[in-house]
Amino acid sequence: MQATLRPEQALQLLRQSGRAEPVGEPGSAAWLQELIDALVELSSRDALTGLANRRAFELSLAREIDRVARSGEPALLLALDIDHFKRVNDSWGHIAGDAVIKAVAAALIDSVRPMDLVARIGGEEFAIILPNCASAFGLAVAERVRRRVESMPVAVAQGQELQVTVSIGGAFAPQWVRSTPALWVERADQQLYRAKSAGRNVVLLEPSAVSVVSNEERRALFETFQNQDTE
Ligand code: GH3
Ligand code: MG
Ligand code: MG
Repeated sequence: MQATLRPEQALQLLRQSGRAEPVGEPGSAAWLQELIDALVELSSRDALTGLANRRAFELSLAREIDRVARSGEPALLLALDIDHFKRVNDSWGHIAGDAVIKAVAAALIDSVRPMDLVARIGGEEFAIILPNCASAFGLAVAERVRRRVESMPVAVAQGQELQVTVSIGGAFAPQWVRSTPALWVERADQQLYRAKSAGRNVVLLEPSAVSVVSNEERRALFETFQNQDTE
């Protein structure tokens, strides 16, 4: 069966999400292009925060791994999770919870460079991909993000303000081996888990990219050399 783009349905999707409709002559090539661009944008954004969604994050992560393997440029992945978020929902309700998620998203965007990708990858879980981030600066960047969230009051009901914190785990992409998105995320997650255990509102980065290369990555490296030998 051939898939067809139905402009009416596409327009309805855009309207439902509160996005602007394409301008110009409906049906013209420029109009259709705008419609397609708007749909691509819609499918890669998280509706609550406007951040990149999980799908866009995974695509970006795979592209970044490619770039690191080709250029050797260091890249850092941060995994973030709001601390004791259940308490916010339980004490203030889901609407306040959503306001906290939005405020944290804005703080994250505010504390990194335009080239970095900030994504909402779960309910109150975020990730940041920082391309071209030298290992000497990793901790300073992650600390800046943590402090930015900590120092931001979030307005909830009746003029009340909440203070929220995030725990952050980070890992650099191994530069001399083509890793996988899943392994890279797993390493950042391990550090996030440690940061939670260490008391929360804490940043922990993987100590050294080389000493913690997993067996799977070692195998990938070995296979790379084998393939080079047979080329
Ligand atoms: P921890 O410090 O260990 O992270 O504790 P926590 O309470 O934050 O625990 P956890 O991360 O497991 O809890 C996540 C909670 O976030 C569970 C769920 O009720 C809530 N949640 C997930 N998505 C949303 C959302 O979109 N909006 C709101 N308001 N709450 C959400
Ligand atoms: Mg969580
Ligand atoms: Mg949490």
